[in-house]
Amino acid sequence: MKGPDARLESYIQQTRPRFEQMLGEMVELPSVSMDPAHAQDMRRTATVAVQFLKELGAEARIVETKGYPVVSGGWTTGKNHPTVSVYNHLDVQPAQEPEWRQPPFEFRKENGVYHGRGATDDKGPALTALMGARFAVEQGVPINIRLLWELEEEIGSPHFAAALREKDSIPRPDSVVVSDTIWIAKGRPAMPYGLRGLLGARLSLRTGETGAHSGLTGGAARNPLAELCQLVNACVDARTGRVKIPGFYDDVVPPTKAEIKGFLASGFQVRRFMRAYGFRSLRTMDSADLLRRIWAAPTFEVHGLVGGYQGPGVKTVVPAHGELKISMRLVPNQRPDKIFALLRRFVAKQNLNVTVEAEGMLQPFRGLFSGPYAEAVRRAVRAGFGKEPAFIREGGSIGAVATMQSLWRVPILFLGLSLPEHGYHAPNEYFDWGQASGGMRAFAHYFAELASLHSQD
Ligand SMILES: [Zn+2]
Repeated sequence: MKGPDARLESYIQQTRPRFEQMLGEMVELPSVSMDPAHAQDMRRTATVAVQFLKELGAEARIVETKGYPVVSGGWTTGKNHPTVSVYNHLDVQPAQEPEWRQPPFEFRKENGVYHGRGATDDKGPALTALMGARFAVEQGVPINIRLLWELEEEIGSPHFAAALREKDSIPRPDSVVVSDTIWIAKGRPAMPYGLRGLLGARLSLRTGETGAHSGLTGGAARNPLAELCQLVNACVDARTGRVKIPGFYDDVVPPTKAEIKGFLASGFQVRRFMRAYGFRSLRTMDSADLLRRIWAAPTFEVHGLVGGYQGPGVKTVVPAHGELKISMRLVPNQRPDKIFALLRRFVAKQNLNVTVEAEGMLQPFRGLFSGPYAEAVRRAVRAGFGKEPAFIREGGSIGAVATMQSLWRVPILFLGLSLPEHGYHAPNEYFDWGQASGGMRAFAHYFAELASLHSQD
């Protein structure tokens, strides 16, 4: 091995102690954005991140918001070079699960495995991308690389859009690469290009001032819980999941055969899926249909039905009030505001007394799985991990992605590094050197690919 690849390999080996030390320091900062008691740790995390970037020769700053700040930094190598923003987040999930076998915010390193909350989501991938970026810059790759590290991802990115409007600190790039996703199986790189959107809603019905005894009023009294159940039945076929609200599917772009083929190449197994989530049975056992359902089809879900008597046994009260908590996962090109209007109109037709309130909306996202940018990801991942990636979608939403899409309108690609066994949002989270070193290789190649993409046009 000679030339740039040999240089990259020796860079990766040399950089390992520094990477591990930085990751250790980061993991030991309990940056739990959900818990106001950690406000000091959030601030400290931003300060340490800026310090890391500067130590590696990058420019870096804290961008203030009305919530926790965003860290923005990187290297400007030339005015005419393309600019890529690498998105990661440095806040973490809480870690109170009793299953933790070690203190979650104590970094432990053993045989290339890095234990601790945030190791894989998303501090490890953030630092991996950073090391790949530094190599590209040191090699003189003609590209401007911006690191964009959010600190409110786990709480839905409430101030991210405002931060992106600070154009001096966070300039609009030519493309974005997001490293905050999970492969389906170890050894099978999988890169998403689509996310589902979300519309939450509360449907409530009041039929009286207070609950009444059914022995005295039953038969004449309306029952809000039963009426809400009837409403659910009008909205969705509970057995198949088919949504019955007129117009709901109008804007859905179904996945193509080629897309489904990509999904199946991810190493997905129905049995493993069932085991992972403890399911006894499913609506489908067919892999292709299942992946279509969880990644590329919309849903109508009932999360809660509140009201009436919840204690032991049965109390014969006719409740006066009930509330349904529902959400719909949406797919390209459904729009949450339009779907909300459809829901409202439909509910009004079914039951005049039910009030509908929206609880958060997120746009679905459909990026690129072919063309020059996707090819650049494909080649970079192959260089990094020795295997072609499968192009998949994700059933969830990343609020920051929708924000960057609507504000910047530039290609957004994904280069995720986490594995299912890494314990994403779960106890005993870890990251590992295999994914880190492969990731550094992939990122270094990706930046070179982007630079050559630019010089071609
Ligand atoms: Zn994450």
